[in-house]
Amino acid sequence: MINSTRAVIIGGGVVGASVLYHLAKIGWRDVLLLEKSELTAGSTWHAAGGMHTFNGEANISKLQKYTIDLYREIEALSGHSCGLHPNGGLMLAATPGELDSLKLICSRARYLGMETEMIPLEEAQRLNPLIDTRFFIGALWRADGGHCDPSGTTHAYVKAARQLGAAVERFTRVTALAPRRDGTWDVITDKGTVHAEHVVNCAGLWAREIGHLVGIELPVLAMEHHYLVTEDLPELKGREREIVNTTDYAGEIYMRQERAGALIGTYEPNGVVWSPVRTPDEFSMQLLPEDFERLAPYFEVGFQHFPALGRVGIKKAINGPFTFAPDGNPLVGPVRGLKNFWVACAVMAGFSQGGGIGLVLSRWMAAGDPGQDILSMDVARFGAFATPKYTSIKVPENYSRRFRLAYPNEELPAARPVRRSPIYDCLKSAGAVMGANFGLEHALWFAPPGVPPIETPSYRRSEAFPYVGRECRAVRSAVGIYETSNYGKYEVTGGGARRWLDRVLASRIPPVGRLRLAPMLNAAGRIVGDFSIACLAEDRFLIVGSGFAEEFHLRWFFSSEPPADVFVRSVASTLMGFSVAGPRSRELLQRLVRLDLSAGVFKLFHVAQTAVGFAPAILTRSGFTGELGYELWTSPDYLATLYDDLLEAGSGLGLVHFGGRALSSLRLEKGYGSFNKDFRPDYTPAETGLDRYIDFDKPDFTGRAAALAERAAGPKRRFVILELPGAETEAIGYESILKDGAAVGYVTSAAFGHCIGKSLAAGYVPTALAREGERFEIDIFGELRAAIVRLQPLYDPEGLRLRS
Ligand SMILES: Cc1cc2nc3c(=O)[nH]c(=O)nc-3n(C[C@H](O)[C@H](O)[C@H](O)COP(=O)(O)OP(=O)(O)OC[C@H]3O[C@@H](n4cnc5c(N)ncnc54)[C@H](O)[C@@H]3O)c2cc1C
Repeated sequence: MINSTRAVIIGGGVVGASVLYHLAKIGWRDVLLLEKSELTAGSTWHAAGGMHTFNGEANISKLQKYTIDLYREIEALSGHSCGLHPNGGLMLAATPGELDSLKLICSRARYLGMETEMIPLEEAQRLNPLIDTRFFIGALWRADGGHCDPSGTTHAYVKAARQLGAAVERFTRVTALAPRRDGTWDVITDKGTVHAEHVVNCAGLWAREIGHLVGIELPVLAMEHHYLVTEDLPELKGREREIVNTTDYAGEIYMRQERAGALIGTYEPNGVVWSPVRTPDEFSMQLLPEDFERLAPYFEVGFQHFPALGRVGIKKAINGPFTFAPDGNPLVGPVRGLKNFWVACAVMAGFSQGGGIGLVLSRWMAAGDPGQDILSMDVARFGAFATPKYTSIKVPENYSRRFRLAYPNEELPAARPVRRSPIYDCLKSAGAVMGANFGLEHALWFAPPGVPPIETPSYRRSEAFPYVGRECRAVRSAVGIYETSNYGKYEVTGGGARRWLDRVLASRIPPVGRLRLAPMLNAAGRIVGDFSIACLAEDRFLIVGSGFAEEFHLRWFFSSEPPADVFVRSVASTLMGFSVAGPRSRELLQRLVRLDLSAGVFKLFHVAQTAVGFAPAILTRSGFTGELGYELWTSPDYLATLYDDLLEAGSGLGLVHFGGRALSSLRLEKGYGSFNKDFRPDYTPAETGLDRYIDFDKPDFTGRAAALAERAAGPKRRFVILELPGAETEAIGYESILKDGAAVGYVTSAAFGHCIGKSLAAGYVPTALAREGERFEIDIFGELRAAIVRLQPLYDPEGLRLRS
């Protein structure tokens, strides 16, 4: 075995094999894969090999398509077959909700360039004669996907990588990882030590244990999973083509042809966690004991929906473990605090996602950037809240919902509540319906007295609609209070703070007592943060951004190398607060502060540290509603008292609670984008419009050269608000925006504008078409809806209320 290499990849499953191939492909030929057993010996060898392009997130869908298209490339390079059966897929709906979801997939697929359409059930039955159509009401057909041979695919990756110069050592177990001072690693194995610049954890079923070697607890857990292979089916005899792979959402069943029989698998409720505490070292190419007694009722549904399967015997049964993260998406990327240590694990759909993961990770390792937005599979979407207990509850929930369609207004109940603010119970008493963000409970909307605080999962307008409308109107006409504790908050202090922030953020850094909106760019000039920054003292700053991105932003800040005289820390749990917004917000707050809040004195973006009632607080004149408004920050021990004071001061002024849903509506009426939905690392300052907050005169900040070049060339597309006249239901997100039938963009967020009475969507359209009144169409549940560009905010276009 060689004793020095650029990168060691731990694990020879389909994911490690893909990472090895992609690193070799971009020119890192000096890379080594270490596998403790035979290649594929974890969860890979016994997989069903199903592959598909659909994912609820557009960028992951694209990477899944990339993965499937890649197989021809590695077959050609390696001369090794992936055993491809590219016979496409059918998705069956049994309820109106499932049907909505299939139509939504069709709308999304257009922009992604995927061939997908709703087809009649008779046509579905022609593609798969085993379906009993009486159980279904709709079907979607997609051309992409099918299945592959798991072992063949893994070996094709490895063979192709080897041809490019990569090395593989089988039967070599990594037993320890020792970091060196310079950020490189000694990888200690049972066959000796390898010195590596980078280490990648692709250890699948053992990813958790490799994490332990470097002192981290990755939120990953294995579940047992069963599938059956039937005897030959007379119904398939004489058919020229294989039946199309079929997913039955109601039955939570997937099935496909396997030689002359069928393979059928189920994601049952109450799934069984495998090796909850430690994955056995010696486990290798083994299967787990079958448990048909537990699974019989679920397979029984499959035998009803596909009756021919029940008429033949079972030839083979497989029960094998594979891993999940709490939300079912992979964990990919660098880990904060561990230089040159990367993860690519918790991959539950390795044959759909492995190639895409290898692609983005190899770019990230080589260029310091994945090259596109992949926040939804970034390991940094989880923070300290994702403890082993959280993971052990969330992963089984996710497993049981693998084939259950996720409704946009659905908040999953497992492992809740985890993080609660001191006023959690007060908000619940006020009727709050809660969601969870980065583990922290926050109010989505408030059910008035007499209305149950529950919401039916739906793709359409839910029972919350009128109450959200009431909240919006009250904010615009009187005053509302919204808890902002779930925002991401960071404190930057020290003599070098201003200088460092000047380099990290693209905006001008405000003087003491002022706040600014501050985009943060990566070196390629793309948006990686959209903050407000308040200067509390010459050497003390408060940065506020998206709560879910706390770990992502901390990783970014620390990789931007704060010097010895700069201290950066998250204050997410030590600073909590409220937004108080509406025309009467000044009147309300003036009852609690001695500071003169008059319009000409405490102006927009002014900042003060002052007492608000009993609470010492940071008070800023800012907000996200477009109204006169304030944000208040205090420590958790004062939060409940501050809340009481605000409610008391608001009595007689029409004060209402408002939640996240109302905020989404209010911000879209004003044309404000939101990080991760509308603003993400796929977009540039000029495309988003955030260029107006950039200080191009600063000599040096991350992304400056790219942003200047873009300013000179002009953006190719622009962020716009679209009005959907007459729509009876809102867009959900990722629906294609069509011009003359061609997809030119997709919806990044949407809401009903309750105060303007219009359905709104946001998205990017080509610059030449970003004109007032330009008409597009958006496919909403199969109906083409007119979507008209509105360049001016539809509410208070001059911003008079904000400045009042
Ligand atoms: C029954 C079943 C059916 C499935 N069906 C499908 C399907 O249809 N489609 C699909 O896409 N996915 C399917 N999957 C999931 C799929 O198997 C996984 O997504 C995939 O195998 C994950 O691959 P991996 O490389 O991340 O992990 P693994 O395959 O677990 O590979 C990890 C490797 O790391 C090695 N390793 C661990 N520790 C060390 C160490 N210390 N030193 C050296 N080497 C080490 C292990 O030996 C192992 O080979 C199925 C899984 C099961 C169980």
